[in-house]
Amino acid sequence: MNSCMRVGSVGVKIESRPERCVGCLICQMICSFVNYGVFNISKAKVKITRGVSGTLIEFREDCKKCGSCARWCVYGALVIGR
Ligand code: SF4
Ligand code: SF4
Repeated sequence: MNSCMRVGSVGVKIESRPERCVGCLICQMICSFVNYGVFNISKAKVKITRGVSGTLIEFREDCKKCGSCARWCVYGALVIGR
């Protein structure tokens, strides 16, 4: 298990850039996998909502800030901050 798959590591800052989101939901898939061992977007601690007025990226309060979702977002919509 490498660092990006570790559950419970805390403390990274995640910056959201909704205008770059394409709605692929890879972030939600990865989150559910690293936290629960399943690919189930309904279990994710990050939620993507796309609408006519744009995209909303929300994190649940129990998000562990592990950064896995951002590491797997190849579109730059989720980025680990400094
Ligand atoms: S935030 Fe990134 S990984 Fe998540 S749906 Fe948007 S583009 Fe895909
Ligand atoms: S940072 Fe939060 S939303 Fe992203 S994978 Fe980790 S627990 Fe899930």
